[in-house]
Amino acid sequence: MNKVQIIGAGLAGSEAAIYLANKGYIVDLIEMRPKYQTHAHTTQYPAEFVCSNSLGSEDVLSASGLLKKEAQILGSTLIKTAFKTRVSSGNSLSIDRFGFCKKIDEIIKSNKNINLICEKYIKINPEIPTIISTGPLSAQELAQNIKEEFGEKNFSFYDAIAPIVEKNTINFDKAFWASRWDKGNADFINCPMNKEEYEKFYNFLINAERIPLKNFEANYFEGCMPIEVMAQRGVDTLRFGPMKPVGLFDKRIETQYKKNQFYAVVQLRQDDKSANLYNIVGFQTNLKWGEQKKLIELIPGLENAKIVRYGVMHANTYINSPKILNKYLQTKKYPNIFFAGQLTGVEGYCESISTGLLAGINLNLYLKKRQMLNIDNTTMLGALVEYITFEGHKIFNPINSNWGIIKEVEGDKKKLKDKKFKNELRSKRAIENITKLKNYIEEQI
Ligand SMILES: Cc1cc2nc3c(=O)[nH]c(=O)nc-3n(C[C@H](O)[C@H](O)[C@H](O)COP(=O)(O)OP(=O)(O)OC[C@H]3O[C@@H](n4cnc5c(N)ncnc54)[C@H](O)[C@@H]3O)c2cc1C
Repeated sequence: MNKVQIIGAGLAGSEAAIYLANKGYIVDLIEMRPKYQTHAHTTQYPAEFVCSNSLGSEDVLSASGLLKKEAQILGSTLIKTAFKTRVSSGNSLSIDRFGFCKKIDEIIKSNKNINLICEKYIKINPEIPTIISTGPLSAQELAQNIKEEFGEKNFSFYDAIAPIVEKNTINFDKAFWASRWDKGNADFINCPMNKEEYEKFYNFLINAERIPLKNFEANYFEGCMPIEVMAQRGVDTLRFGPMKPVGLFDKRIETQYKKNQFYAVVQLRQDDKSANLYNIVGFQTNLKWGEQKKLIELIPGLENAKIVRYGVMHANTYINSPKILNKYLQTKKYPNIFFAGQLTGVEGYCESISTGLLAGINLNLYLKKRQMLNIDNTTMLGALVEYITFEGHKIFNPINSNWGIIKEVEGDKKKLKDKKFKNELRSKRAIENITKLKNYIEEQI
């Protein structure tokens, strides 16, 4: 019986471990938590979602929705479990974070081929087939060993987490339920502001005290940029970003609905299955906790809100994949060693899950001496892999799923100007091609 090891039981590692165990391998899944915690994880469970509980849109005409669909076609256990543990949030896929990771814990512990070992992995052994998926908060000792083995400097940048508040402490005389343009269910809590309230809030925000950054030059995860940094870009930046008022209407107020009923709106999204906790959408922050409290109290409806988790920021590590990896996520130096997840420079939950699955598929094909998966940029997963392994970047920065990396479709240029039409073609092509790859995998093994 073949033995493999997976390092890190996060999103990528759990996906890869389950895949390989189901293919008959004995999998040593080495995870340092709960003995050693990271700055962001709080549980002892595998596959913990550390910040938002949303995996983004389900719509295959969106980049993130397409990636999810591709992972589903390739047989992702984590995406399947996400659908089973979802909470309502319009047309995006959001999960009950504890329900989800407990379910993954059960799946792993009930699989007789997986040995879940609580240990900090420190030194790479090129003799053992291995997937390293220790994520953006990889233990320093391992990060150091990766540098020594692959001769590359690590990169570091910052990520930020948004605060979470208790729903029953929100004042619903001011806050109201709605989804933007009434799409899907009215699942979001909305806290509206008039101009005066917004200006007071804005002035406090840009002057509020922050936790000092260390010696790093902050290089933010664009999708997770701290609200105070976004605010510095201009007084109205937030009103065009996370505090966008368009399409949000409080139907209790008698008014002719126009584009904007309010000057700015803060939205809160359900964070747990029982709908007690709500996170403040787009409010990732590095403000001192006392300042966060004062800021949140300035939001109409949240004056007395109980904050159950404050926002924080921390370092995020990734390898120089274009130098280290080939397009199979295998290291060029050691054929037995693969990398997956955010550590490879993909960014986001679905991206980490999908690359975990891909590394699992390729390690299996490699060990069976079959051609590994020739995935290309006609699919979203292939486009991500092509991006992170492309050697021509002047500066290699992490990337999440987006239409900019996928191969253009050919056809009538005039018709292709219609974005929806274009995305329909791209999405159809991707689904066809990923299905062919799925069939190829099944023929091989
Ligand atoms: C604070 C923060 C907020 C984020 N917010 C979002 C968000 O809102 N939306 C989004 O899409 N993405 C977000 N991301 C990015 C990313 O999607 C997640 O970090 C995701 O969990 C990455 O998956 P992963 O499997 O690569 O790593 P992880 O899920 O972090 O798993 C890595 C695992 O490896 C373990 N480990 C580390 N070192 C060792 C070692 N030496 N030995 C053994 N085990 C080890 C860790 O304990 C962890 O369990 C965020 C990241 C961070 C850090």
